Amino acid sequence: MSTTYFWFRRDLRLSDNVGLKNALEASKSVQCIFIFDEHILNELAIDDARVQFIHEELTKLQSELNQFGSSLRIEKGVPSDVWRKIISEENISAIYTNKDYEPYARKRDGEVRDIAEEKNVRFERFKDQVIFEEGEITKDDGLPYTVYTPFKNKWLATFKPAEHMPYSIDGLTDNFKPSAYTFPSLSAIGFEPTVIKVQPFTLDTVANYDKTRDFPATDGTSYLSPHLRFGTIGIRALVHKTRTVNAVFLSELIWREFFMQILYHFPKVVHQSFRIKYDRIEWRNDPAEFKAWCDGKTGYPMVDAGMRQLNETGYMHNRVRMVVASFLCKHLLIDWRWGEAYFAQKLLDYDLSANNGNWQWAAGTGCDAAPYFRVFNPEAQLKKFDPKGIYIRKWVKDLDELTYPKPIVEHAFARLRALEVYKKGLEESGAL
Ligand code: FAD
Repeated sequence: MSTTYFWFRRDLRLSDNVGLKNALEASKSVQCIFIFDEHILNELAIDDARVQFIHEELTKLQSELNQFGSSLRIEKGVPSDVWRKIISEENISAIYTNKDYEPYARKRDGEVRDIAEEKNVRFERFKDQVIFEEGEITKDDGLPYTVYTPFKNKWLATFKPAEHMPYSIDGLTDNFKPSAYTFPSLSAIGFEPTVIKVQPFTLDTVANYDKTRDFPATDGTSYLSPHLRFGTIGIRALVHKTRTVNAVFLSELIWREFFMQILYHFPKVVHQSFRIKYDRIEWRNDPAEFKAWCDGKTGYPMVDAGMRQLNETGYMHNRVRMVVASFLCKHLLIDWRWGEAYFAQKLLDYDLSANNGNWQWAAGTGCDAAPYFRVFNPEAQLKKFDPKGIYIRKWVKDLDELTYPKPIVEHAFARLRALEVYKKGLEESGAL
C-alpha cells in the first residue's frame, strides 16, 4: 500500500488538526513526519529554548503515536532535499500538511509541491492555524482590511460556531501506518538544553481577562502565545471554549488573525514600513543606547523590568512590550527593525506577523498604528499599570542601589525630539 505522509510544522498536536484529520480520512497508511529545517536552525543559538520546546512536544507526539502502533519520523535538513529523497526512495501517494502563511514558508511549500507533483505525488494543504485566512475576511470590494475594527466586525459577523468546530481523529487512528522510527535526542539535532521554558497556558484567566490583562504584576493573561505559535492547541478548540466567556479575549485572538492577513497580503512589511512614508525617518541608531535597552539598563524601571523579563524567561507581558517598543523607537529613535529582530531572537512566542505588526504599531509606521505624536510616558505607564511597583521590583533587583543607571534620556526632551524627527521625515516624504 502506498504511504500518505502528514508533515507537522506549526501544528504539533493530534487533536483539532485539520490536515491530519484529512490525511487519516483519505488514506489507511498515514506516516507522520517532522523536519528540523536547517534554513531556520542555522540562524539560532545552540541553546535556543524554542527548539527545546519543539523537541519536548515532538516527544509527546511520539508517545501518542506509539500507542497506535506508529511513530514519528524525524528528519533534519533542507525540506526540499528531504522530500526529494523520500519521494525517490518510497512509494508515496500524497503529502498532507497545514498551511503556513509566512513568506519563507510559502516559498518552501511551493518548492516541495513542485517536487512532489513532478513525481505524481499529491501535495495537499489545509487551513488550520486560523479561523479565517487569506481572502476570507475582506472589505465588500474584495480588498484586504488595513484597519482592525472593521476587520474584527466582519470576522464576528462571518463566524458561525457550527462551521468551526474542533476536529477529532477518533475512529481514524487505525489508519496510522505501523512504523518504529527512532527518536533523536536534542543533542543529536545539534542543540543543548536551557533553563528557559515555555510555561503551560491557562484558560482560568479568560473570565476576568478584560479587567486583569493590563497589569503585569498579575497573572492575568493566558500564556497561550507559544502554544498558538507551535500549535500545541488548535484555534477551533480554543475559540470553541472561550468565545462566549470574554469578548475582549476573543478580540485579541482576532488581532492575531488581523496581523496574519496583513503579512499575507502585504509581505513587504517584513522589510518596510507599512506606511512607506515613515521610511524617511532618520533614526539615530546609537549602538550603545541599543545595548542599554537590550540589557534592561535604561534607567526607566518599567522598560528595564520588561527587557530583563524577556532576557531571563523568553516572555514579556503585552503592556510592557508596548512600553519598551515605544521607548526604543520614540525615546531613543532606534529603527523598529532593530527591536523587532531582538524580540525575534528572544521571544518564545516569536511570530513574524504578530511581532512585525505590533512593532510597526508601536513605531507608528504600521497599519492602524498609534499616531506618531502619541508618545508613551514610561513613568506614567508605571504609575498606572504597576502602581505598587510589584512587577518592576521582581525583575529590577538593583532598583534601589547606587549602581542602578540614571535615565538614559530625559522624557520631555526625548518626546519633543521624536516629534521633530518624525515630522521632518514625513515632511520630506511629502506626507505633511
Ligand atoms: P493573552 O493576552 O492571553 O492573549 C491571548 C492570545 O491572543 C495571545 O496568546 C496571542 O495569540 C493573541 N494576542 C494577544 N495580543 C495580541 C496582539 N497585540 N497581537 C497579536 N496577537 C495577540 N505576540 C506573539 O504571539 N508573538 C510575537 O512575536 C509578538 N510580538 C509582539 C511585539 C510587540 C512589540 C508587542 C507590543 C506585542 C507582541 N505580541 C506578540 C502580542 C502580545 O504581546 C502577545 O501575544 C501576548 O503578550 C502573549 O501573552 P498571552 O498569551 O498571555 O496573551
